[in-house]
Amino acid sequence: MGPAIRDSTRLITAGRRREWVRGKGGSAVNLPVWRASTILFDSVAELQEASRHPEKQFYYGRRGMPTQWALSEALTELEPGAESTFLYPSGVAALAMALLSALDPGDELLMVDSCYEPTRVFCDTVLKSKGINVIYYDPLIGKNIEDLFTKNTRAIFMESPGSLTFEVQDIPGICEVAHQHSITTILDNTWATSLFFQAIRHGIDLSVMACTKYITGHSDVMMGSVTAAPSHFEKLKRLTLLFGQYVSPDDASLALRGLRTLEVRLKAHEKNALKVAHWLDEQPEIAWVLHPALSSCPGHEFWHRDFKGSSGLFSFILDGGKEKDRTALIDSLEHFGIGFSWGGYESLALPIDPTPIRTATSWHAVGQAVRLHIGLEDPDDLIADLDFGLKRFQISKNKS
Ligand SMILES: *Cc1c(COP(=O)(O)O)cnc(C)c1O
Repeated sequence: MGPAIRDSTRLITAGRRREWVRGKGGSAVNLPVWRASTILFDSVAELQEASRHPEKQFYYGRRGMPTQWALSEALTELEPGAESTFLYPSGVAALAMALLSALDPGDELLMVDSCYEPTRVFCDTVLKSKGINVIYYDPLIGKNIEDLFTKNTRAIFMESPGSLTFEVQDIPGICEVAHQHSITTILDNTWATSLFFQAIRHGIDLSVMACTKYITGHSDVMMGSVTAAPSHFEKLKRLTLLFGQYVSPDDASLALRGLRTLEVRLKAHEKNALKVAHWLDEQPEIAWVLHPALSSCPGHEFWHRDFKGSSGLFSFILDGGKEKDRTALIDSLEHFGIGFSWGGYESLALPIDPTPIRTATSWHAVGQAVRLHIGLEDPDDLIADLDFGLKRFQISKNKS
């Protein structure tokens, strides 16, 4: 074996097995889109043989075809120590499946208070109705999470940085105490992706990504993934098959195309977002910039210690003002779309209010909050746009 290859090289080679791209003559660079439901066999004996080994063999459409296998294999290769990756029709479906595979009735789940809101809704409805107790905890709790353990604690869910407010968690610390008590660790790793945070290597058992965001990267596919450590992959696999989870080869092909440029895109998002965040930090209309790479972000030291980079999503809090003043700012922006989701090549601005969502911690809003996704435009154009927007904010504020 040669020396271990680096991430950029791995992104290019991952999942491109010769037998999946090769025809008579030569091989294609990219995986073909294999659309199939029925697979035909030459004989009963061949069908029976395939049923004995349905994995990564042409068997039945629901089990996937090389297009989906290549994507899942590529995502596994990006997570040193991982066993396998399963694909789902959305990020939320992936989160649901990871949680269901880790928990049984009577179990207790420790859930981070800064989680993505649909994750919280899933816990408070589906999990609670199944007799699973959900306890929310402070994202900055670190190893002290041990104080919350009971004999029923079965899983800890982390999201780092947190949705909307960007607290960075002490993931290795939490995983260390969790594993001392055989508690399963689950992470929503959508913000950093495996490229900027290697979840399994840091002690995570089930790493979830909304591939809708940076993996696909072009705002045209909904997809989720769960990458599992060897100890956790069997149960997840069984449940995934039982629930009939499936993604189309067309979507898998688009996600694979996105994946090949993940590093160049992510580094450009990082550079642009840092430039905009530092500029915002200097503006008198801004009270607080919540960006994991800025020292003012809660848990910044853990980002600095554990992450290889920062992506394009962060929030800021305006200094004073009312909702209508924030609306004046956002409505005046030309280069920022107004909409949910993120991770595409385009910039987005979203009004947010984390205050009513929390239960374990309170969010002291000092002003109106905005979440930005910084895309691949020239950051100076984005700054000029925001500069104009902040002036509209001031004018609107002075009118009240
Ligand atoms: C968007 C998002 C999800 C959900 O992904 P979908 O594909 O929209 O279902 C999960 N977690 C985080 C952090 C997200 O931003």
